[in-house]
Amino acid sequence: MTTIYLKPHKEESLRRFHPWVFSGAIARVVLDASHKSAAPEEGEIVSVRSATNEILGVGHWQIGSIAVRILAFGVETLPLDFWQERVRAAYQVREAIGLIKQDNNTFRLIHGEGDFLPGLIVDIYADTAVIQAHSVGMHVCRNEIASAVLSEVPQVQNVYYKSDDTLPFKAPVKGDRVGWLKEPAAISHQQLEEFWSIENGLEFRIDWLRGQKTGFFIDQRENRALVERYAKDKDVLNMFCYTGGFSLYALRGGAKEVDSVDVSQKAIDLVNINVARNFPNAKNHTAVAADAFEYLSAQKAEGRTYDLIILDPPAFAKHRDAVKNALRGYQRINAKAIEMIRPGGILFTFSCSQAVDKEAFRLAVFSAAAQVGRKVRILHQLHQPQDHPINIYHPEGEYLKGLVLYVE
Ligand code: SAH
Repeated sequence: MTTIYLKPHKEESLRRFHPWVFSGAIARVVLDASHKSAAPEEGEIVSVRSATNEILGVGHWQIGSIAVRILAFGVETLPLDFWQERVRAAYQVREAIGLIKQDNNTFRLIHGEGDFLPGLIVDIYADTAVIQAHSVGMHVCRNEIASAVLSEVPQVQNVYYKSDDTLPFKAPVKGDRVGWLKEPAAISHQQLEEFWSIENGLEFRIDWLRGQKTGFFIDQRENRALVERYAKDKDVLNMFCYTGGFSLYALRGGAKEVDSVDVSQKAIDLVNINVARNFPNAKNHTAVAADAFEYLSAQKAEGRTYDLIILDPPAFAKHRDAVKNALRGYQRINAKAIEMIRPGGILFTFSCSQAVDKEAFRLAVFSAAAQVGRKVRILHQLHQPQDHPINIYHPEGEYLKGLVLYVE
């Protein structure tokens, strides 16, 4: 195996179980005999040692500023049952915290570094697992991962692989970035129309073949349940609704009216399908395909107001250098929403940009409130749910934050 030797004292963060080795920390690379090239191959499993030859761990080699993502600390090779053991451990956590039950078969099984598998996401929808690799190393291991998921998660029969948007763009990967790893006997495009996954007793059509991310935003489950608590008799706007997660909970909570808005017509079609499935007689739901800023401006011009607004935009900042613009975007959209809240109403506002931290987001929302000149109090500070755990040694894993505001 190829061995990576670190510069003196660069092993400290690995001793504290932080799973990344930066390229600047590397003193030299000793390739094993199988290499024809002068460098390790992207995705190759390498061993990492300190300057004093201490064994630190094994991980996936990457091209870029993060050179190695550690899979296992303190060993020189991966144990034979490595994938099974990690997947089993992740599944046991979800089971132990009561997430898997008759009225909930939708959950995140593997959340990257949070489940000690950097670069890997696995979401479970009823009998189907959707695997997403964010590193070439995980791509190389995709079949072993699929086998482990099939053997360790009793409900899974099918495994779909969806890494077209998440693998490094230029990486010369072998094999398809998208497709079935365990082809289901049962699911074709047509049969997907009959596919339902259950979250807290609500049924959702999950279109992992054509949808965003792995097909659904599981990370808002607990926050949706909180909307249900506040929805009774309210006029609700679910902005950036995607397939209508928050809308369904608001309807179940007894909302008077629910408007769902998303720029994607495909998403709006799915909202309508999901509402019809769960509330076949609902006459109090409207779904509109529109741009958020345009919709809010147009509604405001007509004097429309709401009791409860949910703002769950896509990540405004995908990189650190986009943070400033993102903060301006958060301020703008939140100001528009706060303006439209009736006195005594509530705003649920979120940011899923990892690069924007809690304090910065809160400051952007503060600026929005001040700009509009309304009295605003924070009722809840929200975050990602328990199946998206944050490895305490890898605080970068914290990304979703939200505020529930009471607007006078
Ligand atoms: N709240 C959703 C997830 C939202 S994801 C849920 O609970 O499932 C963000 C959504 O914002 C995506 O569906 C995307 O289509 C939509 N979107 C992106 N830009 C938009 C814009 N300018 N106006 C309205 N919707 C937009």
